[in-house]
Amino acid sequence: MSKYTFQTATTDPIEFGGDPALATAHLSTNAPALSQDDVTALSSICDTSTDAVDRAKHGRDWWPLSMTWSLRNEVPQIPHVVCRPRTTKEVSLLLAYCNDRSIAVTPSGGRSGVCGAAIPLSAGVSLDMTLMQGIESIDAISGVVEVLSGTFGPDLEKAVREHGLTIGHYPQSFDIATVGGWVACRGAGQYSTRYGKIEDMVHALEAVLADGTVITTGGAPAGAVGPDLSQLLLGSEGTLAVITRVWLRAHPLPEVERRGAYTFDTFSEGIEACRRIIRAGATPAVLRLYDGAESKRSHGGDGTRATLLVLDEGTESIVDGTMAVVHDTCSDMGAATGDVALVEAWMHHRNDTSGLQGLTRKGYVVDTMEVAANWGHLDSVVEAVETAMLAIPYARSATCHLSHSYIEGACVYFTFAANPPAEEFESTYLALWKAGQTSALSSGANLSHHHGVGYSRAAFMEQALGSSLGVLRSVKKALDPRGILNPGKLGL
Ligand SMILES: Cc1cc2nc3c(=O)[nH]c(=O)nc-3n(C[C@H](O)[C@H](O)[C@H](O)COP(=O)(O)OP(=O)(O)OC[C@H]3O[C@@H](n4cnc5c(N)ncnc54)[C@H](O)[C@@H]3O)c2cc1C
Repeated sequence: MSKYTFQTATTDPIEFGGDPALATAHLSTNAPALSQDDVTALSSICDTSTDAVDRAKHGRDWWPLSMTWSLRNEVPQIPHVVCRPRTTKEVSLLLAYCNDRSIAVTPSGGRSGVCGAAIPLSAGVSLDMTLMQGIESIDAISGVVEVLSGTFGPDLEKAVREHGLTIGHYPQSFDIATVGGWVACRGAGQYSTRYGKIEDMVHALEAVLADGTVITTGGAPAGAVGPDLSQLLLGSEGTLAVITRVWLRAHPLPEVERRGAYTFDTFSEGIEACRRIIRAGATPAVLRLYDGAESKRSHGGDGTRATLLVLDEGTESIVDGTMAVVHDTCSDMGAATGDVALVEAWMHHRNDTSGLQGLTRKGYVVDTMEVAANWGHLDSVVEAVETAMLAIPYARSATCHLSHSYIEGACVYFTFAANPPAEEFESTYLALWKAGQTSALSSGANLSHHHGVGYSRAAFMEQALGSSLGVLRSVKKALDPRGILNPGKLGL
């Protein structure tokens, strides 16, 4: 089929505090600068930029700590060059060249990651995949869409909708993240309780290994052909391979949509309602429960009651059955019926992040931390994380909502803020993360549900994975023996 031409561009996380061409690197690296011969060789393979502004922009992503550095005209690290391949062959030639010369290559998509995963810690090449855009084929009978990895969310969804299909993946960063970034970070969309996380949506992958070898993985509805290599690359955050092409599972466009809202005396009661709904087999696309503070902040109220927003879409009889389970469960638990207009309000504002930049400019520490835990542990995870964070000097708030549910548990998403004096900004930020992450891990949660690990969470990988981290390190060594792919990430 003919290829679409897509236009979506990346969005900058925050303004630079000066001329971006003069931005400096906050972190240090021993990596030697590329030689002119290297730049010439890379330019002969694909579009290669040495422009100072381009390089500075590729030195940062949406990691909140580095946003405050940006206000001082610093980025975490500055790549020597930005390379923009358009084909798998160009990616392959580029990696083979860099592997031979041990040049670091950090893949990037929309650079919307919030953990510093796309920061080129060892300078070298920032491999910007966003020129590899387009839908390559659509099998409407099977519902399988072949898309190049640099394609942004709106372009993908628009193209598949023209064929009566939807992918159903709507992260809050939908406009500014790419398919490759979704896959590399095991992302989750806001409708994940019906459509699944990205790892449930991938049918097959094409990727290029560090030495330039092109591989494809998966390609069938299910298999028993050894371990699932697609799942090995899902979440690898650019450390094992560069993902060039993705085959995604697509669903028929929904016939109907239904909405509901409920309020509970406590967050814990709301969690129990979500558990019963999911355990009963109902999977409404959106099942979002906000604690009292977040309910007040986003939906009004007196700050005591927890608000549950529900939305489902799909085939009418299935959606009606799902919403009936939701309603009966909430009624049985004594929930009050809420104003359904709250769902509409959430739909309107769900991707608005201007509050983050506003607080950052005012000097506040503000960030979010999402983890997943079994239903049996969720109450204690929430209690442990909030208590640990609020014990940190200058902490102002630690609030929570539940946003993605599974048969055995859910994701809880914390938003925290502090207002330390400027000289204690960074230590407060790091202390909040340490308190939140270690208390989450020791109370039964994992390290991350969908934001990934990147740079900022790498220090917790040992505690999170224990001896399995050794397995991951062995895989890294086997696939990327010279360590050129995104060095310094994922605790590798
Ligand atoms: C406001 C906001 C809201 C967000 N909401 C959500 C949300 O709802 N759900 C969610 O899951 N995430 C969310 N995120 C986080 C982020 O958008 C996701 O992690 C996203 O998947 C990253 O995609 P990207 O294209 O921007 O990747 P980048 O940030 O550019 O890169 C992220 C990582 O993926 C690697 N990578 C990128 N492309 C490739 C490739 N082609 N091959 C190999 N590795 C690659 C990079 O090396 C890096 O390690 C949010 C971020 C922001 C700023």
